[in-house]
Amino acid sequence: MSETPTGLDFIRQRITRDTEAGTPVITRFPPEPNGCLHIGHAKSICLNFGVAQEFGGDCYLRFDDTNPAKEDVQFVEAIQADVKWLGFDWGDRLTHASDYFEQLYQFAEQLITSGKAFVCSLSADEMRENRGTLTIPGTNSPCRNQSVEQNLELFRAMRAGEFADGTYVLRAKIDMASPNINMRDPVLYRIRHISHQRTGNTWCIYPTYDYTHCVCDALEQISHSLCTLEFEDHRPLYDWVLDNINLNVHPPQIEFSRLGLEYTVMSKRLLNKLVDERLVTGWDDPRMPTIAGLRRRGVRACAIRDFCDRIGVTKQDNTIEMSLFDFCVRKDLEADAHRAMCVLDPLKVILTNWEGEDTDALTAPWHPRQEYGTRVMPFGKELYIERSDFEEVRPPKYKRLSPGEMVRLRMAFIIRCDEVIKDANGEITELHCTYFPESRSGQDKSGLKPKGVVHWVSAGQGIDCEVRLYENLFLERRPDTSDLAAALNPDSFHNKNAIIEPAAVQGQMLHFQFERQGYFVKDSEDFSESRPVFNRTVSLRELRPA
Ligand code: ATP
Ligand code: MG
Repeated sequence: MSETPTGLDFIRQRITRDTEAGTPVITRFPPEPNGCLHIGHAKSICLNFGVAQEFGGDCYLRFDDTNPAKEDVQFVEAIQADVKWLGFDWGDRLTHASDYFEQLYQFAEQLITSGKAFVCSLSADEMRENRGTLTIPGTNSPCRNQSVEQNLELFRAMRAGEFADGTYVLRAKIDMASPNINMRDPVLYRIRHISHQRTGNTWCIYPTYDYTHCVCDALEQISHSLCTLEFEDHRPLYDWVLDNINLNVHPPQIEFSRLGLEYTVMSKRLLNKLVDERLVTGWDDPRMPTIAGLRRRGVRACAIRDFCDRIGVTKQDNTIEMSLFDFCVRKDLEADAHRAMCVLDPLKVILTNWEGEDTDALTAPWHPRQEYGTRVMPFGKELYIERSDFEEVRPPKYKRLSPGEMVRLRMAFIIRCDEVIKDANGEITELHCTYFPESRSGQDKSGLKPKGVVHWVSAGQGIDCEVRLYENLFLERRPDTSDLAAALNPDSFHNKNAIIEPAAVQGQMLHFQFERQGYFVKDSEDFSESRPVFNRTVSLRELRPA
């Protein structure tokens, strides 16, 4: 749907045409460091860095740090780490809007000198009242006809720190009757006596996003300024600024649709709220749609890139199904996650006819593909299987264990359940089973044909671990965010004390497919060999696109 018969989305088609005309491709990804990046940003990163790569160009990572009140170095660092982790490289093109504060200021003086901007003393409320509505034109500010000299003097005094916050703003002089409200003498500078993470106390006036963005794009000679659709109405202002300052570069702004994903929210304001109100454990909570959260959950960068590729780039806003994201995650892990066995809800099995040591070992492949090698799986008299793999009264077509029935222990032997042991409350505590020595997996001479296969772990050698199971963070596909706490899925997190085969705890591998359970990853914060913790990345389901 995103692609045309030429196989290229509308942005790549446009760039193809432009590069034929000799334009070098220079793009930028311009995050505001007021939160961590989310999967929506990944779409923009893959697009901006992706087209630069494909067309032999360059991409800037430019921090849009014009609002010091909300921004933080912690996010500047996290964002760089996330972009790198996603597999992209800005080389020496790491910039900040604040690098250009002096130039921005000089261009603002130019606008004043040419009668295109004025200093306004209306309060924020008065400006709002004067702005008009979609149907009613705005009214001119009483300051609109001040002389150039007066405006320059006031603007310089603003810069010099002579006025308090909110007393004056610099506004573009465009058209208070414009049908586009963004063109009704928009604010270009505000007074903020607040220290900036990079420029310290050098400035007490800060440029607005709309004014800053287009000027930075032009200064960096961006060939294609790609942004999301909500900026379409801002494009006339983007163009107006560049048409009215003395800078001979005018990047085209091209809009594409934002990524929306089911069962989650994507706005940093809301994500900040989730973190601040401790509705999640942090920006890297594995339920968060942030890059940090997805990474901690065990999602790998190439799954995210594949996802962004599949959703494509269009002008239609839409909400992507979570199942497509899960599909990409599974497809990536399916290819090379090591297989392991972990019992999440253990039920003890005793092999009554076992005569060997409890430390006997079987070997099993780490992966269906041979080159992954094998691991040693301790096997012995006492094992655990999943409680849900046993039914005392066998339901029709049941393929797992029940009294008198047989099942194969995966990669090991066939067993038959002879006796069910219960405690005083009637709870099943263990199963007494017979194992068939000649049924060893791969060398089965028993002739027995059990219907099912179950996973298991040695009771003596298995290792206690914590598994963390995650579900959607929100209950609804499109959460009503007016009451964030109420919209959350109360069952989005469960943890269990499970038993895992030792080989999965030792060694360097991070990602696993726990047989019949899903894909899991060692938790990057809490895992240790003495207290293993695994996060479920995604459950197992058929490998096909939604
Ligand atoms: P948010 O609403 O989440 O705070 P934002 O647009 O304010 O998003 P920025 O840090 O300004 O966040 O975004 C940096 C870039 O990422 C912008 O070019 C923006 O268009 C893009 N972007 C943000 N969210 C999405 C999204 N959901 N899908 C695609 N691109 C996005
Ligand atoms: Mg923004």
